[in-house]
Amino acid sequence: MAEYKSPNSEQEFDKNFTQLKPFMNSTEAYYESSRCLYCYDAPCITACPTGIDIPKFIRQINAKNSIGAAKTIYESNVLGYSCGKVCPTEVLCEGACVYNLQDVPPIEIGRLQTYATGQAIKEDKSFFTRKAPNNKKVAVIGAGPAGIAAACELYLEGFIVDVFEAKSNPSGLVVYGVAPYKITNDEALNEMEYLAKHYELNITYNKPIQTKEDIANLEKNYEAIFLGIGLGETSTLGIPGENIENCVGAVEFVEMLRMQHHNLKVPKKVVVLGGGNTAMDAASECARMGAEDVTLAYRRSKDAMGAYHFEYDLAKGVGVKGLFNASPIEIIGNGTIKAVKFIKTEEKDGKLTNIAGSEFTIECDWVIKATGQSKQVTFLSLIDGLNLDNKGRILVNEGFQTTNSKYYASGDNVSGGQEVVNAVANGKIAAKTISSNLI
Ligand code: SF4
Repeated sequence: MAEYKSPNSEQEFDKNFTQLKPFMNSTEAYYESSRCLYCYDAPCITACPTGIDIPKFIRQINAKNSIGAAKTIYESNVLGYSCGKVCPTEVLCEGACVYNLQDVPPIEIGRLQTYATGQAIKEDKSFFTRKAPNNKKVAVIGAGPAGIAAACELYLEGFIVDVFEAKSNPSGLVVYGVAPYKITNDEALNEMEYLAKHYELNITYNKPIQTKEDIANLEKNYEAIFLGIGLGETSTLGIPGENIENCVGAVEFVEMLRMQHHNLKVPKKVVVLGGGNTAMDAASECARMGAEDVTLAYRRSKDAMGAYHFEYDLAKGVGVKGLFNASPIEIIGNGTIKAVKFIKTEEKDGKLTNIAGSEFTIECDWVIKATGQSKQVTFLSLIDGLNLDNKGRILVNEGFQTTNSKYYASGDNVSGGQEVVNAVANGKIAAKTISSNLI
């Protein structure tokens, strides 16, 4: 296992969670931007869900016009700084860069994007032009990436926008759900503060919308309502022992870590259940928090994991052990967790079956379940005429309007779980639809 000591101070925490994509200095930015070929029909643009004109902003950086570059980025993506840090650029823009075809490292687009937007945030530059106010009001439920993108675009379209957020911070997953080595709380909140100022965002925090009465009030006072409420808690596995203390959900664990930093203590032996990117994050984080033995257990094969390869490599790089074709059948403990009992699995004709008599146990102090999140169907059922699919996702048309014409939605409550950049892209489309329907 890699040598990470349990952090006892903010400095030690920061050292263990060194940023994967650190901020560039001006020399690095100039050098990196000068490598860009400014491709015609650039594949990096097509690969970006928000369609940022990447060669244009890189050329602006190279011409020492970082603020112009930030404007180019923010015109397409209001979370330009955060996305530069948390996007899986390896499989999006950088994965599409033509340099990959020549076995040359791709342009570090994410870091250049963060460099330019970081300058604009630092210098508090404003380049947002608003249409004349139309005096129409829109309520946005949820200040995550989808809600913020929708709110900013609606503001530019001239609407009065009120955002209602259940938690005490904006940004949703960027602050609560992303590994700390991808972005710090300060970075995410600095960008939000900048946006709140320049888009005059009116966000009410600690204000969950949860009753029929809350909904009726919004429907009475607003012409349209945008739903960006994301997903709910980690889903249950339905196996014995799941309720034992120290069996926690991955999203809940990441949130605790993001809020408590070094004050959260992770025990020596941890088993993480799951094969998605959240499982990789949780496992890496436990290792960086000083856990000595972290096992990532997935019920199917390594190749069947939903996680990006680079995320698994990151976890392995800090000493996480992979265990495949192992399905948890019981969490063993009496008050506290002692072990997880698994059964080996095999896949035949795409069907997963347990191998009889192959049970085994792995001792551990904690179990982290990264096995998907529930949908917020109870709350959504309070909205008349709002249809969901059979997985609990809100049904929308191509403009992200729901089956109740007053409501629009995007982000994870529609997709079931995508990247921050997808939520931003679709939040903006929903806002454009609201604007064309109401004006
Ligand atoms: Fe530059 Fe690569 Fe995009 Fe071409 S594909 S414009 S080289 S970043």
